[in-house]
Amino acid sequence: MTARYTQNPHITLIVPAFNEAAAISNTVVNIAHHLEQLTPNWDVVVIDDGSLDQTANVVRALAKELNTTLVRFSRNFGKEYAITAGLENASGDIVICMDADGQHSSELLAQMLEKWREGYDMVYAVRQDREVESQFKRWGSKIFYRAMSLSGQINIPPDAGDFRLMDRQVVNALLSLPERNRFMKGIYAWVGYKSIGIPYFPLERTHGESTFSKLKLIQLAWTGITSFSVMPLRLASALGASLAFIAFIYGIYVVVDRLFFAESVPGWPTVVASMMFFAGVQLLFIGILGEYLARVYDEVKGRPSYIVAEISKPHGAKTASKPRASKAKTSVTPEQDLLI
Ligand code: UDP
Ligand code: MG
Repeated sequence: MTARYTQNPHITLIVPAFNEAAAISNTVVNIAHHLEQLTPNWDVVVIDDGSLDQTANVVRALAKELNTTLVRFSRNFGKEYAITAGLENASGDIVICMDADGQHSSELLAQMLEKWREGYDMVYAVRQDREVESQFKRWGSKIFYRAMSLSGQINIPPDAGDFRLMDRQVVNALLSLPERNRFMKGIYAWVGYKSIGIPYFPLERTHGESTFSKLKLIQLAWTGITSFSVMPLRLASALGASLAFIAFIYGIYVVVDRLFFAESVPGWPTVVASMMFFAGVQLLFIGILGEYLARVYDEVKGRPSYIVAEISKPHGAKTASKPRASKAKTSVTPEQDLLI
């Protein structure tokens, strides 16, 4: 039996919320109800990711009663950044991340804690409902996970999202990663630690609709691929090299043909078609190079990943937070990270 069985850990639950005024109250009440049964030491941190509705007011009203801290962003920065801010403001020995919309069932918390007690440092929930999703999401996620596993050195478990438990060690490791293009699924996998998945079926959203449109999902997948692998660059080089080789062979053929057979047939359509093809391929790969350059540019600017406008603690103290940059605490440079 590990020491974790005798310990009453402090659990911090972080909840990113964007326009969730209608759902957040129920979600936090539900979470608090379950946490109370698990440990005497718990708190909740809600990150209001620049909501345009009453989310912040609803959370402030809950704060005292439900031991909830509100971290309010100055605008919408996106879920990945909301989670990062949550991790930075979490004080627990264990941190658990859950959505504000009620899709993540609090019933799983006990199971996650049990796995932690068994010695796992990260316990992630794996969704089991892919077959009821749209064709776009199903195929999109299949292609994405296949591409990631082919291209990177990291192994991202398919269908595991942000609903997960993390030990303090994992949280500290996550916070030590300095990059601003934060693709959390990749970062969770990159830090390693003893991890295990547990199956779950997401519940229906209690209010409103998912904010992740097709375009946003494609953008997120592309950030994931470009942040964690240089596969597109390698593919570009490989295709470039193959085309150059084919062109070389063709060049030899043309010369031999001219010298020995003197049958030079004017091949106007071939010339135009191949020129257009090569021009297209070149533009495409310049674009891919540009994508990586843009990421390097983002990192070099050194801007903070997000701006916190307000932190309201449960005891009522309000602090206007300083803008905070995720400073490098390790020796991994963004360039090194890009090559991983
Ligand atoms: N969210 C956020 N910032 C955003 C978009 C979403 O903090 O820019 C939060 C949202 O409030 C919810 C969670 O991220 O708690 C998941 O979002 P959503 O339900 O829209 O996505 P899905 O369930 O489709 O993954
Ligand atoms: Mg949702």
